[in-house]
Amino acid sequence: MSIYSKILKKIKEYDKIIIHRHMRPDPDAIGSQVGLQKLLQLNFPEKSIKVTGYDEPTLTWLAKMDEVADSDYEQALVIVCDTANTPRIDDKRYSMVDFLIKIDHHPNDDLYGDLLLVDTDASSTSELIALFAFENRLEVNDSIAKLLYAGIVGDTGRFLYPATTARTFEVAGKLRQYAFNFSELSRKMDSITHQVAKLQGYVYDNLEVDENGAARVILSQQLLKENRLTDADTSAIVGAPGRIEDVQMWAIFVEQPDGHYRVRMRSKFTPINEIAKQHNGGGHPLASGANAYSKDEVDLIYQKLKEKAKK
Ligand code: AMP
Repeated sequence: MSIYSKILKKIKEYDKIIIHRHMRPDPDAIGSQVGLQKLLQLNFPEKSIKVTGYDEPTLTWLAKMDEVADSDYEQALVIVCDTANTPRIDDKRYSMVDFLIKIDHHPNDDLYGDLLLVDTDASSTSELIALFAFENRLEVNDSIAKLLYAGIVGDTGRFLYPATTARTFEVAGKLRQYAFNFSELSRKMDSITHQVAKLQGYVYDNLEVDENGAARVILSQQLLKENRLTDADTSAIVGAPGRIEDVQMWAIFVEQPDGHYRVRMRSKFTPINEIAKQHNGGGHPLASGANAYSKDEVDLIYQKLKEKAKK
């Protein structure tokens, strides 16, 4: 029995299902989570299927979360989408149930859950949810297709990053056949606010690049506050340094209100997730995140990137 069939079999055993995803959600986290919710609601209308987590203001146009009471977890099944490790699961009540399914495309360093669909060859978790639907011949509608397509576009940088495979295009092609408003979605996902456009200008103006193409920029709380930018707004500029041809790998250090730095790391060819893991983080080989608790640690992470680039 394939893992897709095993997951469906388990879903059929429960009347209540609650779907979680990672903190600081991106379009793939929301797209896979709510895409799966709507898929299950369409195919199993008698079941209660809820989604939980923080409503990220920059993504509520895509989908919103439900009110989930503690009592909803009684005899419920929990499915966690797009989340590599338990500390990053949004809403800790996932631990209240006795059966948990993990569906993810990040390296499987934390083998949590009772049934796991982890495929690091998938561009996104949304791609996996679409495959789950197709493999099990479940009914899909326009709004499900829109959510899953948005997730794939988000995690592949609109089919730019190397994780984009022939299968990704196949899945995206099937989703594109549904009648969601494609141009509105594409435009929305490509739009940035004026403040974010200015932040992008700041990134290009202040990017430090060494002779081997290792780059960094620091975004202080003062800069973010002065421009009325949130931490979530920085997601729109993470890819910006990579557009410069000389840049090979880069780190964007985003100062948090408590003074520590969230580090967003990217690389074109050489894996950098081992550096992220050494600094309270992790992620994909070419797209990782970490944390730095002092200016010295910021410098140390950049130093490690420079050494990688030199090799
Ligand atoms: P981000 O820069 O936040 O878009 O993160 C890029 C990737 O790194 C995400 O897909 C996450 O899987 C991973 N990541 C970010 N922060 C962390 C962290 N603190 N721990 C583990 N993985 C992380």
